[in-house]
Amino acid sequence: MKIEKEIMSRVNVHLASHYGMCFGVKDALAATRSTYDENDVTVLGQLVHNPLVSQELTENGIKQGDLNNSITDIAGTVIITAHGASESDRSRWASTHRKVVDTTCPLVHKAHESLVSLIDSGFFPVVIGKKGHAEVNGLVGDFPQAIVIEGDEDIFDVPYEGKIGIVSQTTQSIEKVDELVEKIRSTRNACEVRFIDTICSPTKNRQKAVKDLSEFCDLIVVVGGSNSNNTSQLVSTVESLGCRAVQVERPEDLILDWFIGVKDVGVTAGTSTLNETVISVSERIKAISEELAVKDREYLGKERILC
Ligand code: SF4
Repeated sequence: MKIEKEIMSRVNVHLASHYGMCFGVKDALAATRSTYDENDVTVLGQLVHNPLVSQELTENGIKQGDLNNSITDIAGTVIITAHGASESDRSRWASTHRKVVDTTCPLVHKAHESLVSLIDSGFFPVVIGKKGHAEVNGLVGDFPQAIVIEGDEDIFDVPYEGKIGIVSQTTQSIEKVDELVEKIRSTRNACEVRFIDTICSPTKNRQKAVKDLSEFCDLIVVVGGSNSNNTSQLVSTVESLGCRAVQVERPEDLILDWFIGVKDVGVTAGTSTLNETVISVSERIKAISEELAVKDREYLGKERILC
């Protein structure tokens, strides 16, 4: 009985087979770090949705600007983030008194190209994604007629005739996008509906890996910024499978009570999370497991004395 209770207190930590920072964000971060020795550098938007990285940028004198701001009195070097930008924003920022470092991810470029190819072929542009997100703003920025679909309620805005061309924000959930595309197809029988799958492979790999963990874990800890879209998508994926998920930005956010009675914990992270943060969160969970085991041993010791 005693041995069983002690084993119950141990938490097994399982790291997802795919997690954390993707190549697009890594490249954007590396390009930005290479400007640390320059005097006047401004990132146009949030480079990554990660508070630790934002803090590092501030400490190295990198300023924060707004890609959409039409008052472009900023000089020096400006950085377009991995989320990309519309052509109109890109050309507005290009100027002789300014150096533009464009860190747009190649897979975001691919989403732009897919949307343009649909429009060029006469399709009405539809983007499935989070309204107001930097990547989505960039995708629709040159096409005022484009519609952004975030949920079922937005489908009413899609035309009932003609050709409809759909792409997706690169970090959307595969299931959600498939479901919305299907709903558009089934309610627009008179239309030719063409969908180009632009969800990026790192997002797909991370979603698949978290599903695998959800099959046997009692709890999934998702590490990522509270404003990171793909991090919230990972949480939603876990919850949609009936598994419990908690989201943390750093090890200090972990709460011991979450792990009481938990045997298997999965750990994953959004595409803007640093590897070292994931490792330190995993280490903290192991330390919590030890704390719980100590508490159990103390409890069992007291019980023995009482007996
Ligand atoms: S999440 Fe995908 S599209 Fe976005 S930066 Fe990473 S690899 Fe590129």
